[in-house]
Amino acid sequence: MKTIGLLGGMSWESTASYYRIINQLVKERLGGFNSAKIVLFSINFAEIESLQSAGRWDDAAAILTKAARSIEKGGADALLICTNTMHKVADQIEKAISIPILHIADATGEVLQQHHIKTVGLLGTRFTMEESFYKDRIKSNFGIDVVIPSADQRTIIHDTIFQELCLGRIENSSRDRFLSIMESCQLRGAEGIILGCTEIALLVGQQHTTIPLFDTTAIHAGKAVEFILAD
Ligand code: GLU
Repeated sequence: MKTIGLLGGMSWESTASYYRIINQLVKERLGGFNSAKIVLFSINFAEIESLQSAGRWDDAAAILTKAARSIEKGGADALLICTNTMHKVADQIEKAISIPILHIADATGEVLQQHHIKTVGLLGTRFTMEESFYKDRIKSNFGIDVVIPSADQRTIIHDTIFQELCLGRIENSSRDRFLSIMESCQLRGAEGIILGCTEIALLVGQQHTTIPLFDTTAIHAGKAVEFILAD
């Protein structure tokens, strides 16, 4: 088994999901007492969040790069950045290390393709929904069109992520709002929805809707397990 590096803490609520899913999948595949070999570096999210809101992405990248180097030194064979948003600086981090980054948008695009999805809705932070680093990658690497919610809806999603989900608050009223935003993406042609923020699956799951959901946390964790168990 190879060793996977997790660059987490963004937020720790979702890093806990990564840790659990990766170990569960290894247990399913290998049985017994088998568990995953993981090097985890968990960031203080307060530092990253304030740099994000100030638009200081290079400073945030510097913190993540330092952590990624420690993860590499710790013996990881590949790196997962356990947040969609911070893939905005994935190229900068990748240049500073010699192990590969398993990119969350590529892992998601592969699964969308397996499901023959041609148009998909994207829910995530404002950065992930509005900027090009994520949706353009899905379009250019997989030929899949990405529908994003309206400006008002994007504000609701972004604020819910930062004021509730990253703080461990799960509210039924927010779930209802997310479900109605997903339905409006569906009316605009989305055949499925990317849960493009690693905390959204803590709020909404496939049991709440008939629209196919693509949970980036589970998909990315699954990609890690595929990697560490490959020959
Ligand atoms: N975990 C979230 C994501 O997947 C948001 C936290 C962050 O801004 O990194 O985008």
